[in-house]
Amino acid sequence: RAKQNGRNRYGFFTADLEARTARALQIENALRRALERNQFELHYQPQVSLTTRQVVGAEALLRWRHPELGLVSPAEFIPVAESSGMIVAIGEWVIHTAVRDTKRWLDLHLPLRAVSVNVSAVQFRHPQLPEMVTRCLEQAGLPARRLELELTEGAAVDDPAAALAMMDQLHDRGVRLSMDDFGTGYSSLSYLKRFQIYKLKIDQSFVRDLEEDANDRAIVSAIIRMAQALGMQTTAEGVETDGQLEFLRAQGCDEAQGFYFSRPLPADAFEAYLRQQQEQQSSSSSG
Ligand code: C2E
Ligand code: MG
Ligand code: MG
Ligand code: MG
Repeated sequence: RAKQNGRNRYGFFTADLEARTARALQIENALRRALERNQFELHYQPQVSLTTRQVVGAEALLRWRHPELGLVSPAEFIPVAESSGMIVAIGEWVIHTAVRDTKRWLDLHLPLRAVSVNVSAVQFRHPQLPEMVTRCLEQAGLPARRLELELTEGAAVDDPAAALAMMDQLHDRGVRLSMDDFGTGYSSLSYLKRFQIYKLKIDQSFVRDLEEDANDRAIVSAIIRMAQALGMQTTAEGVETDGQLEFLRAQGCDEAQGFYFSRPLPADAFEAYLRQQQEQQSSSSSG
């Protein structure tokens, strides 16, 4: 009987494993077609200044809508895109689309300073990245300072010297760089001071329990003070509550993004959000 249970459990385990492998293969095959079939879209999440309370930027977040697989999370398909190399072409589509949308919003005089785009470690090792970024900016007619690239600490782990050179090249082209998910990776502080990093994004895992967890409060305030001392900006990710927001503001964090302000929105809904912000700003400044 015990033996049978064991076999059943083993059976469940392999069935589960096979299902997961099958899904990964399904995703990889479908991903090859996703670009040409226009299955990607960008959603935009506002980034809000904690001093003025006004929207200052947006993070572009990739969404993949597949007819059978449904809406696939980036957490699921980005790793597949990275390991297959498809991330380079997909990443180009993301930058192209984000700068084109941003140019349109700026031409409409909507209140937006910059757009942030996530760049994976694989893309960051691609030697053509600076040229590709400049080409997208020129095609759209968007000044480089309006684009911010979000890197993760993983981008610099394998080959810090190459990462340093890539950051210098992008910086020289006028693009701003931020360190995403700061505090969760393996980067050393001795590299951080040499990197051309404009902004640290405080990972949402430190923000989530700010109200209950004194250790998280200590970590977050230390990150903010270190960034200030190094001349870097800070953005807190994953802000959902008043209490988190008040703590971050009191500590001198510059910006925040999270469901508290808005979920990531499809481009047209984000444009409507910007119009609404603009109306509120003009009515509060004239009233
Ligand atoms: P990330 O860059 O750290 O993005 C933040 C994630 O947190 C997003 O998940 C966003 O929807 C979510 N988020 C925002 N506010 C809140 C909040 O208040 N609470 C909670 N619980 N979550 C919040 P998403 O869109 O699923 O993206 C996950 C990750 O996928 C991103 O993490 C980024 O690493 C990656 N990713 C997304 N788009 C791209 C892309 O275009 N290129 C690359 N290379 N990676 C991307
Ligand atoms: Mg990000
Ligand atoms: Mg992040
Ligand atoms: Mg993340």
